[in-house]
Amino acid sequence: MTSEPRDSRARGLVLIVEDEPAIADVVRLNLAKAGYGVHVEQHGDRALDAIRRLRPAAIILDVGLPGMDGVEICRRLRADDDWTPVLFVTARDDEVDRIVGLEMGADDYVTKPFSPRELVARVTGVLRRTHGAPEAAPQTVGRIVLDATRRRVTSDDVEFNLTATEFDLLAHLMRKPGRVFTREQLLSEVWGYSSVAGTRTVDVHVAQLRAKLGDASPIRTVRGVGYAAEN
Ligand code: CA
Repeated sequence: MTSEPRDSRARGLVLIVEDEPAIADVVRLNLAKAGYGVHVEQHGDRALDAIRRLRPAAIILDVGLPGMDGVEICRRLRADDDWTPVLFVTARDDEVDRIVGLEMGADDYVTKPFSPRELVARVTGVLRRTHGAPEAAPQTVGRIVLDATRRRVTSDDVEFNLTATEFDLLAHLMRKPGRVFTREQLLSEVWGYSSVAGTRTVDVHVAQLRAKLGDASPIRTVRGVGYAAEN
């Protein structure tokens, strides 16, 4: 376990839960260099305790861990109504499938091997999306009302629990009703990076949003192009 004092770091504490010391070290060094405080846990059974104790700004969660695995950690966190941004680190496609199946918890994910720089960019993106809500009047598209100031999404006064990423994706689409965004545009404008391989991330989050919003979802798939929010 390696910890750096939270207060000496301006950009917030990131908890890394990763059992491979070499990966944990590279991620820790890169995050520290980017101005984050970092704490590393190597055993899954200690993750939830560390999250409650340290209240990190974001969590980088390896899926394959000794003890409780990353998916279960995230599931319990969300069941506890803790919406701290979670960025998953996966080793295989079937792990991505499990995260997709979770339909809630993930704000983003990267697949090993990943570049430390990309991971830092993703963490920064997740945190920017979580904290960067501008003041604005609530917007309505179809049956969905989105209040960007309070970061609330409702339909007939029923509130939906969305992750920071789901919220930002929906807000981005709803800002220009009827306009079709390509996956690449959404990735670059919502996630803040561009990557052809990463466009599946967009599909995953649209699927999660639709699962949560149900019949009220205003998101339309434009085949071969991308997505739009429509009345
Ligand atoms: Ca692992």
